[in-house]
This record gives sequence, C-alpha cells and structure tokens, in this order.
Amino acid sequence: MAHIVVLGAGLGGTIMAFELREKLSADHRISVVSNGDKFHFVPSNPWVGVGWRDKRSVEADLSDILPRRDIALHPEGAKRLHPADRRVDLNGGGSVNYDYLVIATGPELAFDEIEGFGPAAHTHSICHVDDAMGTKAAVDALIAKPGPAIIGAVQGASCFGPAYEFAFILDKALRDARMRDRVPMTFVTSEPYIGHLGLDGVGDTKGLLESALREHHIKWICNAKVDRFEANRVEVSELADDGSLKKSHDLPQSFAMMLPAFRGVAAVAGIEGLTNPRGFILVDKHQRSPAFSEIFAVGVCIAIPPTGATPVPVGVPKTGFMIESMVTAVAHNIDRLLRGQAPEAQATWNAVCLADFGDSGIAFVAQPQIPPRNVNWSSSGKWVHAAKHRV
Ligand SMILES: Cc1cc2nc3c(=O)[nH]c(=O)nc-3n(C[C@H](O)[C@H](O)[C@H](O)COP(=O)(O)OP(=O)(O)OC[C@H]3O[C@@H](n4cnc5c(N)ncnc54)[C@H](O)[C@@H]3O)c2cc1C
Repeated sequence: MAHIVVLGAGLGGTIMAFELREKLSADHRISVVSNGDKFHFVPSNPWVGVGWRDKRSVEADLSDILPRRDIALHPEGAKRLHPADRRVDLNGGGSVNYDYLVIATGPELAFDEIEGFGPAAHTHSICHVDDAMGTKAAVDALIAKPGPAIIGAVQGASCFGPAYEFAFILDKALRDARMRDRVPMTFVTSEPYIGHLGLDGVGDTKGLLESALREHHIKWICNAKVDRFEANRVEVSELADDGSLKKSHDLPQSFAMMLPAFRGVAAVAGIEGLTNPRGFILVDKHQRSPAFSEIFAVGVCIAIPPTGATPVPVGVPKTGFMIESMVTAVAHNIDRLLRGQAPEAQATWNAVCLADFGDSGIAFVAQPQIPPRNVNWSSSGKWVHAAKHRV
C-alpha cells in the first residue's frame, strides 16, 4: 500500500486527487494538503470582480467532497517540503510522509517586484477570490466616482487571457451603469503585440483582440514595463524592439487591475534540483522531477521556458485544458510505478480556451500550445460568452 500526497487543492490539485482515486486500487491512501478547506474556481474570478458572481458560487467545501471519495484532507497548508525525507511539514506543527508527491501549488503572486503594486498598495487583483471581492468594491467606487482605468499584465506575467477578459467585462459593467463615457480605459501589457498571450498568438488573436479593443474604445500600450504605481498614476516605460526606451508614459488612474508575474510558493521554492531560480518545479516529459523520482508536478507551479525572446519578458500561460492533460498523465504514470512499470504518459499541453468579454468573446485552440502547431485556430462571437457564462 502506498501513500500519495497532493500538495495544493486548486484546479490542478483537486482533479489530481479525484483522478488518482479513480485510477488507483482502493488499498492506496490519497491525501490532499491544502490552504484551508475551500476549493476556489479561479477562472470565475473576473466575474466576481464586477459582481456577476459571488464568492459562494465559485467555491466548494473540500471537507465534504474529499472524505466522501476516501481522500484525506490536511487544510493546515504546507510549511516546507523535505524531499530527501519524503515529508511535508504542515503549518502549525505536524507533518505528512509520502511515497509519491504531486505538487500543484499554483503561483505565488509577485506584487512586491514593482513599487506600489497589489491589493495591499495601489492596484486591484482578480487572481484570488478574496481580492476579486475587493476589486468589486473598487468597481462600485469607480462607478460612483468615475476616472481613468488601467487594465493589463506587467513584465514577467504569463497569464494574459484574464487581463483581456477583465478589460472587456469592466467595459460591459460600466456600459450597463451608463458610466463608460466617463471612464477612459487603457490596456497596458508586457506582450510585444496585442493577442500574443505569451504564446506568440493563436490563429488571428492579434487581429481579433486589436479589433475588439478598438470597437470598445480601449487604448493600448505594448512592450510595457511598469516602473511604479501610485495612488492616482502609473509610470510605464514602453520599450522598442531592441529593448531601448521608446517612450515614457505617466498615466492617470482612478482604478488599476494588472496581472502580476508569478513565482513558485515558499513551501517548495529554493530546493536544490527541484525548482528553477523563480521557484517553479522542473519536470520531465512525464511531469516528473528529474532530481526526485517520486515527485510529480502539475499546473501553474511547473517550469516552462518562454516561447521566444521579447523586449519585455513574458511567460507561457498554463491553461486549464493543458493542466487537465498533465493531471491525467500523472495519474497514469503513478499507477504504472505502483505496478512496477516505467512512466510512459505525456501530457498533450494543448490549449482550448474561451475568453469571455461580457457579451461576446474569443475562443482559440492551440495544438500544441507551444508553436509551431498542427492546429492554430481562433474565432469570436456572442456564442463564446454564452458558452462560458453558463459553465
Ligand atoms: C484570474 C484567472 C483566470 C483564469 N481563467 C482561465 C480560463 O478561463 N481558462 C483557462 O484555461 N485558464 C484560466 N486561468 C489559468 C489557470 O487555469 C488557473 O490559474 C488555474 O487555477 C491554475 O490551476 P493550479 O492548480 O495550477 O493553481 P491554483 O488553482 O491557483 O491552485 C493552487 C492551490 O495551491 C494552494 N497552495 C499554495 N501554496 C500552498 C501550500 N503551501 N500548502 C497548501 N496549499 C497551497 C493554493 O492556495 C491554491 O488553492 C486563469 C487564471 C487566473 C489567475
């Protein structure tokens, strides 16, 4: 009998525990170490940010769901991983030993890398549901006292879809409140061009997103490096293709929401051989750590190199469909190891995404996610909003 521990109970970790339970014989123990006893569906946060969803409608109670599937829950959260001892120390004392570990700890949000950045300073966030609720309060304040809005993603960000989604969703919320004419909006992004998405574009995402921004009267700045945020302004350096300064912008803001860069969480960062310098988990083609053969990793916490050099650094997004393929591969590989066989399954790393714009949206399919691709398709229309909003 083996003990398999899943570290992190977000999108990747929760389905990882379910797939392991389904795949492995019942005599193997499965435990989940999570930060609290609630699951949050992160892709719904842009809607929480404008009040189209409340917190309760995007969370689920792990203390109810997991035991029903014979999965143990440790809601204290992990303090530190000790891979040489196959042990995870928990917050507040205690520890869990494992035979196999799947790390699914998502991102730590690197707001501290830019002065004045983050919900504790001068900007808002939709990355965590609690911050998205704070964003909803700030959107209400913006409607009551309109002024310029800055939306986008900063240098080193890897998650661009939700930034576009939130820009268009905010546009729709402001139009519904008959206040859009009093809120000049600018999309500020580290991407080299609109619709790059950290993927060098998919199909015609450049054309589709530029056109949508124009139609919605949202100006944009690409190759943007944010130097600092203040209470009512943002300093941005726009870089040229050779990395030199093209233009300095001093943008007034009454409301700012920008996606931060991500890095690995403290419980796993800085472990020799396990992580890269930003704390992301290094994995081979079987999602397995090259340094610790009993450790696998799925989701945003894994290391993926950028698609190519850009004037301002941008990372590769780890999207939901791609994460599900990592989870399925890991369940298959741990099952094989428990049977004395070598891992063989590889995640497809394909991207299938719907980006909701509040009353329309764009969809894209990238197979594989990293170019060049066999399938490179994008489309737009009201059907995207209808499809995603009902999920
Ligand atoms: C706002 C937003 C919207 C997105 N929308 C989409 C979308 O529409 N479609 C799409 O395909 N992708 C989307 N993504 C990308 C991706 O699908 C999500 O980020 C997804 O939640 C990533 O799953 P994950 O399991 O890797 O990380 P997460 O879902 O963030 O889960 C990580 C979990 O680990 C926990 N954790 C961290 N440290 C510890 C610790 N020390 N101990 C225990 N637990 C810990 C965290 O609390 C969290 O619960 C979106 C991302 C964001 C930020």
